[in-house]
This record gives sequence, structure tokens and C-alpha cells, in this order.
Amino acid sequence: MKPQAALTGAPVPQRRRLSIRPGRVGLTAALLLLAAPLAVAAWGLGNYAAQRERNNADARLADSLNSARRVYGHALSNVDSAAGGFANDRQVQRRLLHDHRHVLVWKMVVDSDHPDGRVVSQHDAPPAAAAVRTVNVDFFARAHTTGRVVVFLPLDRRFVEWLTRNADLGGHQQLALVRGGSLVGVSRTLPIESGRVGTGPRDIRAAGLDYRAVAMDLGTAAHGIKLVALERSSHIDANAGSARWRAMGLAFGVVAALLALAYSVSPSIARTRVSKQERERAERVLAHVGDGVLHVDREGVIRLWNPAAEAITGLRSDAICNEPAEEMIPGWQEIAARVPVARRPGDADDSWSAETVPLEIEGREIWLSIVGVSLGDGTVYAFRDVTRDRRLEELRAQFVATISHELRTPLASLHGAAMTLLERQDELHEQTRRDLLDMIAVQSKRLAALTEEILLAGQLDSGALRVVTRPFDPEELVWTAAAAARLRVGDETTIDVSIPAVLPKVEGDAERTRQVLANLVDNAIKYSPQGGRIVLGFEADGEYARFTVRDEGLGIPLGEQKRIFEKFYRLDPDHRRGIGGSGLGLYICRELVRSMNGRIWVDSDPGKGAAFTFELPVADRVTAPA
Ligand code: ADP
Repeated sequence: MKPQAALTGAPVPQRRRLSIRPGRVGLTAALLLLAAPLAVAAWGLGNYAAQRERNNADARLADSLNSARRVYGHALSNVDSAAGGFANDRQVQRRLLHDHRHVLVWKMVVDSDHPDGRVVSQHDAPPAAAAVRTVNVDFFARAHTTGRVVVFLPLDRRFVEWLTRNADLGGHQQLALVRGGSLVGVSRTLPIESGRVGTGPRDIRAAGLDYRAVAMDLGTAAHGIKLVALERSSHIDANAGSARWRAMGLAFGVVAALLALAYSVSPSIARTRVSKQERERAERVLAHVGDGVLHVDREGVIRLWNPAAEAITGLRSDAICNEPAEEMIPGWQEIAARVPVARRPGDADDSWSAETVPLEIEGREIWLSIVGVSLGDGTVYAFRDVTRDRRLEELRAQFVATISHELRTPLASLHGAAMTLLERQDELHEQTRRDLLDMIAVQSKRLAALTEEILLAGQLDSGALRVVTRPFDPEELVWTAAAAARLRVGDETTIDVSIPAVLPKVEGDAERTRQVLANLVDNAIKYSPQGGRIVLGFEADGEYARFTVRDEGLGIPLGEQKRIFEKFYRLDPDHRRGIGGSGLGLYICRELVRSMNGRIWVDSDPGKGAAFTFELPVADRVTAPA
């Protein structure tokens, strides 16, 4: 049923297309899965940055303490040199002499006006919180008397303030002295509530506040007093916290950028993958296509030669690819000129249909049916091997030509003789009548023989011919063939036999062997128009027996010696020499010999004669006397 809107004529609302991109959906899920471990990694990176910041704070505390120690050391050496100076001063020595305690005390005051300190004479002994230098003075004014000069540096808040000013401290760090469980700072003295200071960084708590502290002993000059560099833990924590967030922010930023990049490039990655898959599939298809495929570019260079092309021609792709087609494919110029090139595949009409061209490769003739289609940068040719079809076609044409010729001559003679007998029977002389009847007999025999040959060839082709293999006596066969031949030749031809005294039995079909021998002898007579000597020979070794028919006739050119055994093949197909024949005789001989596990060949000196030999297996070594 149609929608209501359509019935009323109102416009049918268009259905919105839902665009689903499975590649992206899958990728989003993958990216989300990937995001979890990346987030954990970013968190770990933040913690690492925080810890690093804490370690840096500890290192800065150690640096500050070292700087303060150097300033303190400088002040202490001033105290030392002041004490040494007083001890050697005559006036001081005299004062010591008059002082009943034999002790004179000075206080080293360090402030911004006197960075190297100034000494102030004191009546009282040095306080507990001080760095003290005492020098013994020996003087001999009267008896042997000893006195002491004492110079001390008070280690109080003022000193801490001076030290803080002169030491090189990090931003939020402070200096203090630790004395008897209290922290003497610049502005006040605080009790240490928890923790103990030491040479390594430690956490302490004083006056309700947490500190990170690194301390050092001030040595024997200030026994029990430590110099300490401090920083509020809250400040270090704040720095560590912001370092953590900075690192995490950066890491998350990088992760987000990576994910965004992956998300944005994913379609092109997917496209590349798809096109790679398509290319691979096309290559596989091309490798498995049955037709030869050849791509020749505009410069005539072979760019592609698929496996089928290799198999058909025997030319290897690695040998001919990227080489000029003209140099690699014999006769390519003529082939390319003959093959029509269509603009598009399937564009072929009659004038563009496949062309059948010969290709001669290493003496082998191959017939190719080839079509060309133009490509932007050259031409793609597809071809198939039609050599077999071509050969069959040739055979068919030869068969028709040969048989019609072979039939025409005897049929014409038969017809002529029969008509003469029919029409002029009464007028004819007795002898003429007999000659005509003889001719009818000979020609009909020739026709029967021809029919027999055609039938036999057909049986051999279809494998329907039965061959009986059993040992037979070759000698009788040779003599019989020679005797039959002698009946058919004139005085200009002699038939001889050349056989050894002792002959082995031969394994084969005696009747078929006789047929082969008779065929060869017939040919020897036929192709020796001038007559001459024809010799039927036989010889044997342990394994094979060889029958030979040698003549002194026309002979066979070397290049044709293999082909004469092919079906319908004749050296003189047009019967110009006037010697008739179907071209089936030697084909039948070869197939019969093969069916008896033997082989046949010819040796010939053109113009001087030919020797046909066929060999069959020897049956046993039992011999029959000649
Ligand atoms: P055909 O019926 O033509 O004789 P064959 O198959 O017997 O057919 O022989 C094939 C061809 O071989 C012949 O046409 C002939 O040209 C050549 N041939 C055969 N035997 C001889 C021979 N003894 N001497 C010269 N040519 C021969």
C-alpha cells in the first residue's frame, strides 16, 4: 500500500540516509581501549615528575646548607685569626699578667657593616651558644705563668640572620640552628615537636608546621649545635603537585593529540589497506588467468608478462620485463602492426576481433590468437595458444585436399571405363574390353586400399586397434615382402634381401609388422621413379631387432625427415611429381610400430635415396637356421 502522503499528493518526506562507517566505529572502540593504558602511563609520568620535584627540593636544601657552611667557615677563620693576633699582642700579654684570672675574652660581632666581624672586649665568659676559640699564652715576665685569650662568635638569632643574608639560599629556604631540641630561627626559637634533623633530608615538625630539613654539625668550636637548612613541606608539596599536574597535562595532551591524529588519518589508512588488498587480488587474478597478458608501454617496453604468457611462449618474465618488446619477442613489430587495438575492453566489432599470428621461438612455431586494448600509457595484449587448433585446421584442409585428389583419379578412371563398356560394349575389341575391366579392378582396389588406410588411421587415433604381441619369425616375413615386391616392379628395379645367417625371434604382431614392411617397400618403389636397387635388411642385437628398407630414390630433405611421419604430410602435397598418395602411410607405420613398443626413423641423402628403419624388441635368443 502506498503511503498516505503520496495518495493525497503531499510530498513524501525523504528518508534520511543513515551513514554508518564501520571502519571508524571499530577504530573508535580500539582507540578507547588504547586510551586506558595511555591514561595510566600519563598518571605514572605525573607521579614521577612529583617525585623528581621533591628530590630537587632536597638537592636545593643541601646546596643552601653547603653555602651557609662556607660563610660560617669564613667567620670562624676570622675568629681564629683574631684569637691568634691577641695571643701574640704584647699589650694583651701585659694585660693578662695583671688580670688575676689570666683570661681575656672578646666577642666577635658580625653584621652588615663588618662582614669580616669586629671584636668587642667582654668581661663575662662566652655563652653556651657560641663558637669559641681559646689560645693559651705563655709569658715569662716573672715566673713561668700561663694565660688564655678567648674569642667567641655568638650563635644566636642575630648570627642566623647574618648567615641568611650572606649565604646563597634557594627561594623559600631558611637557615636555623638546632640547639637542645629547639630550632633557633631568624625571628624566633621554636621547639621541635617531632622528627630529628640529620645529614640527610628529613621531615620535622616545629610549632605545628612541617618542614623538610638537612643539617650539619658545626664541629668542636660549637659543640652540640647544628646548622640546618629548611623548607616548608607544604611549599615542597605544592611544587610537587604542580609538577605532577604539568606532566600529566602534557602527557594527556600528547595522548589526545595522538588519538585525534589516529582518528583523523584512519580513513586514509583504511583506504590504503583496501587499495593494497585490491591490488594484491588483481595480481593474484592476473597470475591465475589462463590467457597470456602482455603490457607494452608507449615506448614499446614490456611492463607486464604474466605466468600464462611464460607458459605459452617459454619466455621468462624476469628475462623480458622492462626490455623493449621488439628485441625480446621475435617478429613483434609485424605482430603489433597486425593486431588491432580497441579503445576499451569489449569494444571489439568485427574489424577489431582477435588476430591469429605465428610466433617462432627457438625453432618452435606457436600460433597465437591475440587482441589488444589501449591503456593510458600503452597497450594491453591478451593472447591464447591456438597452435593445436591451427594444426587441426591444417590437417583437416590437408585431408580434404589429399583425399579428394586421391579419390578423383581412380573414380574418373572407373567412370570412364564403365561408361565405355556400357555404351560401346559391342564395338569394343575383346582385348580392350579386358584392359578396361583390368583397370576397373586395379582402381577399385586402389580405392579399397585408400579406404582401408583411412579406417586404420581412424582406429589408431581412437586407440581402437588391437595389436597382438607374440614372438614371430622375422625371416619369413622379409622374404615374403621381397617376393611380393618383385611382382610389382619392372626391370629397372631390383629387390634384394640382406639378412644374417641366424635371426632371433621378434616380439610383436606379425601381421602388423608385415603391413609396416609392405608400406615401406611400396614407398621405396613409389619414390624411386628411375628404379634402382631396393634392399630389405634385418639385423639384431641382444635387445632389439631392426628391419630396414633402403632405396636409391628421391630421398628426403633433412628438415622434413621428422614431419613425413605426421598425418597427411607429403613432401609433394600438390602431386606435381605425379606420384599419388594419401600421406597416411608413414603415420600408420609409426603408430603401429609404437603400439608394438618399437620406434621408426629415416636416414636420407636427398637425391641419393632413403633408408627407413624400425626396431622391435627381440623375443628370445632361440634361433632358427636359415
Ligand atoms: P604417401 O601416401 O604420400 O606416400 P606416406 O606417409 O607414406 O604418404 O609418406 C609421406 C611422404 O614421405 C611422402 O609423400 C613422400 O614425400 C615421403 N616419402 C615416403 N617414403 C619415401 C621414400 N622412400 N623416398 C622418398 N620420399 C619418401
